[in-house]
Parts: sequence; C-alpha cells; structure tokens
Amino acid sequence: MAPKDAKTVKTKYIYTFGDGNAEGNAQMKNLLGGKGANLCEMNRLGVPVPPGFVITTEACTRYTEKGREDLMEAIREEMEQGIAHLEQIMGTRFGDRENPLLISVRSGARVSMPGMMDTVLNLGLNDDAVEGLSQRSGESRFAWDAYRRFVQMYGDVVMGLKPESKEDEDPFEVLIDEMKKKRGVANDNQLTTSDLKKLVLQFKELILQRTGEEFPTDPWEQLQGAVSAVFESWNNERAQVYRSLNGIPEHWGTAVNVQAMVYGNLNDNSATGVAFTRDAGTGEDLFNGEFLVNAQGEDVVAGIRTPQQITLEGSRRWAELAKITEEVRREKYPSLEEIMPEVYRELAAIETRLENHYADMQDLEFTIQDGKLWILQTRNGKRTGAAMVKIAVDMLNQGMIDEKTAVLRVDPHRLDELLHPVFDPTAIKSANVIAKGLPASPGAATGQVVFFADDAESWAENNKPTILVRMETSPEDLRGMSVAKGILTARGGMTSHAAVVARGMGKCCVSGAGAIHVDYRARTMTVDGQTFREGDWISLNGSTGEVYEGRIITQEPALSGDFGKLMKLADKYTRLEVRTNADTPEDAATALRFGARGIGLCRTEHMFFEGERIIPMREMILAADETGRRTALDKLLVFQREDFRGLFETMHDLPVTIRLLDPPLHEFIPHDEAGQREIADDMGVSLEVIKDKIEELKEANPMMGHRGCRLGITYPEITEMQVRAIIEAALDVKMKGIRVIPEIMVPLVSKVKEFEAQKNLIEATAETIFAERNERVEYQIGTMVETPRAAMLADYISPNAHFFSFGTNDLTQMTFGYSRDDASKFLPIYLKQGLLDHDPFEEIDQYGVGGLVQIAVERGRKGNPNLSLGLCGEHGGNPASVDFCHRVGLDYVSCSPYRVPIARLAAAQASLKNEK
Ligand code: ADP
Ligand code: MG
Ligand code: MG
Repeated sequence: MAPKDAKTVKTKYIYTFGDGNAEGNAQMKNLLGGKGANLCEMNRLGVPVPPGFVITTEACTRYTEKGREDLMEAIREEMEQGIAHLEQIMGTRFGDRENPLLISVRSGARVSMPGMMDTVLNLGLNDDAVEGLSQRSGESRFAWDAYRRFVQMYGDVVMGLKPESKEDEDPFEVLIDEMKKKRGVANDNQLTTSDLKKLVLQFKELILQRTGEEFPTDPWEQLQGAVSAVFESWNNERAQVYRSLNGIPEHWGTAVNVQAMVYGNLNDNSATGVAFTRDAGTGEDLFNGEFLVNAQGEDVVAGIRTPQQITLEGSRRWAELAKITEEVRREKYPSLEEIMPEVYRELAAIETRLENHYADMQDLEFTIQDGKLWILQTRNGKRTGAAMVKIAVDMLNQGMIDEKTAVLRVDPHRLDELLHPVFDPTAIKSANVIAKGLPASPGAATGQVVFFADDAESWAENNKPTILVRMETSPEDLRGMSVAKGILTARGGMTSHAAVVARGMGKCCVSGAGAIHVDYRARTMTVDGQTFREGDWISLNGSTGEVYEGRIITQEPALSGDFGKLMKLADKYTRLEVRTNADTPEDAATALRFGARGIGLCRTEHMFFEGERIIPMREMILAADETGRRTALDKLLVFQREDFRGLFETMHDLPVTIRLLDPPLHEFIPHDEAGQREIADDMGVSLEVIKDKIEELKEANPMMGHRGCRLGITYPEITEMQVRAIIEAALDVKMKGIRVIPEIMVPLVSKVKEFEAQKNLIEATAETIFAERNERVEYQIGTMVETPRAAMLADYISPNAHFFSFGTNDLTQMTFGYSRDDASKFLPIYLKQGLLDHDPFEEIDQYGVGGLVQIAVERGRKGNPNLSLGLCGEHGGNPASVDFCHRVGLDYVSCSPYRVPIARLAAAQASLKNEK
C-alpha cells in the first residue's frame, strides 16, 4: 500500500496555447490529436493562431469509460484555468454582456478525419452576450448572424436536431428559406438584423418543440454540452465507418480544441479560406486555394457560395476552365492576391514556412478578420495517388527529403489510381458533354445514376456500377461514396466535402456542376432541359470536370515519368522480389510493364476455359475410361503447349511457375441441360450417360474434395499431359535462344508421399521427352504449401523440392475452417462486431496463418537451405501482408498484374521500416 501522504499524481487533461507559447507540440499527436498538436506547434513557430486549449484524447477515453459527469468533474478546474487563459489574452470575459469571449469547440483525432467530427462555432453567445458582441464590433447584423449560426450549429451538433428523413431538408435551412422568400431576397447575406433576430427565436422554438429542451443560456453549460458532443461523435456511425474504411483503431479517441473565435464574417475586409501548399490533385508545386469574403469557415466547406481563388494564377486558370472572361473574373471573382495583397503576401510566406517546417505538403485553414490574418489549422494535406508520387519525387529533387523518405511518402494502396482507366480516346470524341463542374478528383468513371448513398450501396451489391449524384454530399454519404464508381455534385468547390472525401478515397469526382438540378423526390437530374432518371448511364472525367451523357468505354493509363522514378527508387531499397499471377501472355505482358520479375503462379485450369479448349476438357472429364481420357488429353496437349510457349516467350528468361491442375472437375461441366445435351451430342452418348457422370462428380465439400494433387494421383495421365506440354514448350523456346527454366508446382500437398509420387511422375515424363527429342532443358519441381499439414512437415518435403509457394488463400481457408465461398454470410458480421480486425482473405492473419507460414519457412530451410520461398495468394498484393512476407524472410511475393507496383512499393517500404 502507498504511504498515506503520497500525493496522487493528477492526470493532466488540458494543454494551453496562445501568444507564441504552447504546452504542447507537433510530436504530441497521440495525446492532443493532429489539429491540437499542430496548433501548439504553430504557436511555437510564431504563426498567428487564436489562443486556445486542447482537451486530451485521454479525456475522451475516460469519457467513454466513465461517462459525462465523471469527466466534467475531473477536468473542471483545468477547464476554468483554460478559459481564464483565453480571457486574459483576448481581454474578454466568458458570458460577459459587455465584452464576451466567444470560442469554437473543435474535434481533432490523431489523424485528420475530414468532416467526421462536429465543430461548434461562436459558443458563448446568449441574449446578453449578443448585445455585447454587437456593441463591441459595431456590427449588429454580424453579431446576430453569429448568434443565428451558433444556435443552428449547436442545435444540430449538440442537441441533435437533424432532418427527419433523407428526403427532407435541414429544418433550420427550411426556416431560413422561408424567411428569404418572405423578404424576397435570394441570399443569406441580404437578411437584415431583425430577420436574424426572428430566426434565432424561431430556431430556439423549433429546438424546444422537437427536443423538449430549452436552448442553454449559460456559456459553461454550452461548453460542457459541446465538449461532450465531440466525445460522443467519436462513436457516431459516420466516424465508425470512416475508421473502418481507414483502419483507425477505436481506442485512439479524439481530442477537443477550444479556441478563441476570429471572424471572417465581420465585414467585407474579412474572409475565410482553405489553402494547399501544392496542388492536391496533380501534385504541381503551386500554392493554391479558395476563399470567401465575409464568411465563416463552414461556408467554404459547405460549398454554398462559389469561392474565389487565392492566387492570381490560380484564379486565371479557374476562370479559363469555367469559361469565364477576364473582365468578369476581375469584377466578380478576383483573387486574394488582387484584393488584399498584403494579407496575401503574409499568407504566402507562412505557407512556405510551414511546408519547409513539416517537409510535406500542407493543407491550411485561415481566416482574415478585418484585414488581420489568422491561421486556424495546418496538416499534411490529403492528396491523390498521382499527387503523392509527384510531390514525393519533387521534394526529393528539391532536396527537402531524402530517397528513403520519398519511398515511404507514398501509400502503396494509392498507386492504384495511377493505374486506373482513362476514357478511350476515340469513344470520347463522339461523347456528348452535358455539364461541366470542377475537376475535384481525377480519373474516369462510367455508371448508372443514383441519388442516394444507400442506393449506391445496394446497387453495388448487385454489381451495378453507379455514379452517385447529389446536390452536395455530407458525411452520412460516406459508405455510398466508397462503393460508387464516381461522384457528381451540383454544388461545392474544390474543398467541399465531396471533393475532399473523394480525393481521400482516390475516387473520380466532379463537384460544383451548377447546371445540374437534382430532384430527390422524383429521383431525376435535369440539365439544360434534359432529364436523367435513376439508372440512366452517365460518365465523369474527374481530371477535367466534364460530365458526359451515356456509357463511355475506359482504357488503361500511360505510366508517367515520376512513377517510373519512384518505382526505380523502390527497387533500390527492396529485398523481396515481386512476381505476378498470370495465365495468359497478355496478363504477363501487363505485369512486365508494371515491373514483375517473373510469374509466381500460372493457373493452368484457366487456360481450359478459353474458347474451344473447354470441349476436349469436358470430354476428358466425362470419359468412361483411361483410353477415353487420353484421347481427349491429346487434344488438350496441343493447346497447352502453345499456351506455355506464349508465356515463356513473353517472360523471356524470367522464372515461370506453373501449377498443375487444381480445381475440382465439376467446375468445368455445364450445369444447364442445353449445355449437357450439346456435350452428349459431341461425344456421341446419351444425355443420361452425361447426367449420371455429373452426378458421380458431385461432392459435398468440393474445396476439400477431389482436387489438387489428388487429381494428378488418381488420373496420372493428366499430370503427364501437362508436364509434356510444359517441357516440350520449354524445349521449343530454348531453340530460339530463350533461357527458360520452368518451375512445375504440385498443388494441395498434405502428405510427403503425395509430393514424391507426383515428383517421380514429373521426372519420368520429362526424361521420356528428353530421350525422344535427344535434348534437355533445365526445370524445377516444387510444391504449394496450402494445407496446415504441409506447413508442419515442411522439413520432410523440402529436401526433395526446389521451391515452396505459399498458397495463402487455401491456407487461410483451411486454417480458419472458413469456406471462402460461404464466408460472406458471416465475415461482415464478424468484422462489424470486431471479432476480426480485417478480412483474413485480404490481409494475412499474421499469428495463425502467418504462424504456419513462419514454421514452414524455418522447417523448409532446415530441410533444404537452398529452398526458394514465395507467396502467391491474394495477399501478395496487400501491403500489410507484403510487410509480413518480408519479415519472415520470403524471397518473393506474387500478385495480380495490377497490384505489382503496389507490391513493389510495399516491399521497399517493408525493407525500410524493418531496417533498424
Ligand atoms: P474540420 O476538422 O471539420 O475542418 P474545424 O474544427 O477545423 O473542423 O472547423 C470547422 C470550420 O470552422 C473551419 O473552417 C475552421 O476554420 C472554422 N473555425 C474553427 N475554429 C474557429 C475559430 N476559433 N475562429 C474562426 N473560425 C474557426
Ligand atoms: Mg478543419
Ligand atoms: Mg490452392
């Protein structure tokens, strides 16, 4: 027991910043969240930031565990000190009727979650304080507008007043629209002070009516309510969806930032905006961003008004895209550089300083209050995959980061976007542009129009490609956005919710296509008198902002120079090689372009589905006896040999691993009667005979049935034919001067003797051919390790094997006992309930399945130190699994052609991360 007088060390829950000092810094993201840590850091750098304090993520955890009352008591004293700190710097008082302190309450987790958590602005206002604000600022309209905004936000975020159904509009906006109609004005800005006073009353009444609660007048009560709401929002559904999409653990929690308000909506010498130190879409090294005069931060994000560009150059480019003349641009949409040159220069200097300080592209929020610049946030900016690559390579060239950092800067998953389709250039020529919006997130997409996120989800389940069309998107739409092929919004700028989220997802998006009118009730969109219904096809070009009528064919992109440079760098630091899974010369050629170093898995059965090959295949399966089978196999031999020649020639002297026939035979048989009749006619037998044979082939558990090497053992003539095709093809291409070393792989081994039996058969067949041809070719024999038993007995198998290839799809299936074909019934529920952290078929289960891999690696090498080791399951293209493969010491991974660059980068990152 602790001595009586031992002081209990109290946990510090609140960290203050302001006036060039801060208790926190950028390193403290885990405790202070990204926003809070960076607000502290900016203070230390002397960047103008309104003072404030951060309530830690530990407080969030305590709130979740012990509830509101406990936490409020635990932080009461510190919160009072925090507010006093703000009062002292600002010279104002919280809740004062003369000179009130107003604050924002902002959420901020470790990593930025755009729009996920809710922010309340202008907190501290009540019927008294609004008078004080009005007198102090000399702008009573501004004061009442601030009050109106506060009641609206607080009512929504804290008191939970939302639209009643998805077709309904926001109830506050409905009241605002009514007021505007009554006044005959089009714009919020045209409402008068007395209109706003009425709105505040109406809002409060609405809140009372709907929630049964009075709007709180005590600022401390408001503050506690807002802080609690932020902590609550950590567990709301949209935050959960975002977390699961981005692999953010639940226990991280969010911090709360309480900060003195500054006003971009004070007058016309005020503004608010968002800026990027480089182009988040293309990566170009060009300071850019948008702002609105006389507006508060949320106006920019909501995309209600058309924002202006910060730089003159950006403004000119924007006008050209939007087909706006220079006169109109200068008149109606001038840049910040033109209208507030001094503030602009200060902002540009800060932008450079922050980018250099963080050595990464920054995304800034700023507000200008009556000509004075304030920075409200900085963070490493989200960017497209293309921008990631360009910025990493540019920063390397500019000497800002070193090679290793450049390699680590690019998220391998995001490379996908650079490999994404673009429109077929001929198809696009005749395509009809129906509207033009902003190029919010690059790529090409084609799909059927849906208007609601949940429809996008259900259509996706039926494999229908969709374009989600909305007036604007909100965080509720996240899940639908993630499954749609593309996103189109009528409102919103480059920093609107739709744009930011789409870029984050690497999804094609066109935002702010103002010509489009969406009618949610009728489920139609109208452009220029033309109406599109739900289900109609449209296409989007997220790189130009063009919206097209109809379905347009897409095609593969060209790989750019920066991409090539990054890949070269990746290869410089990698140990693990990347091969591809390919069954055709075309796939192999694609994979070669993407830098594959060989074929790690050729599934021979895929060759049998092509064209006329399926006929002799079926004859073979349905043959009554061995003679019948051999006749059919002779026909197949011709095809297979040709296929292998093609593969070997394409791969030149790179290794090619060929797996012997693996799937259960019933997969090749027609299941409809018409197909069965056809085959009966072909073979000259009755339909009954065929039906009986099919009945005979039926298995209760085909995946654990008559397949893999069990086929080769029961029907040795199949193995013989395949080996003959491989060896003869190898001899043929050897004649052409190609150095080919085929690797013959025996699937689904569990007994040492199974492998040995097949191995003997392969060798005997090869020797026969060598004798026939009077010539030899080098080849290897190995096995797939895909049953737990094979993994355990690896040291008995390996002395006879040249290589092992881990077939982690089957190994996962057999280790968990999950049938891959049936797992969709329970896997989603397991994931949702947190019984699984991720789908084990996507990312390797490192402890269970991975444990077996590790055992097999150790024992395999013990039995044969020269054993070559690879992995060829779906996991080969999954970055976390690639990292695992590196750590257990595999020689290579093999994945589908399009994932080769992803695996190469992931392999390099694995080397770098595990360097120390
Ligand atoms: P998010 O993480 O969703 O961007 P923020 O907390 O950054 O939420 O705030 C939302 C908006 O409110 C931003 O535009 C921000 O600049 C603005 N804002 C936040 N705090 C203040 C403040 N103290 N004064 C003025 N504007 C603020
Ligand atoms: Mg923000
Ligand atoms: Mg398998």
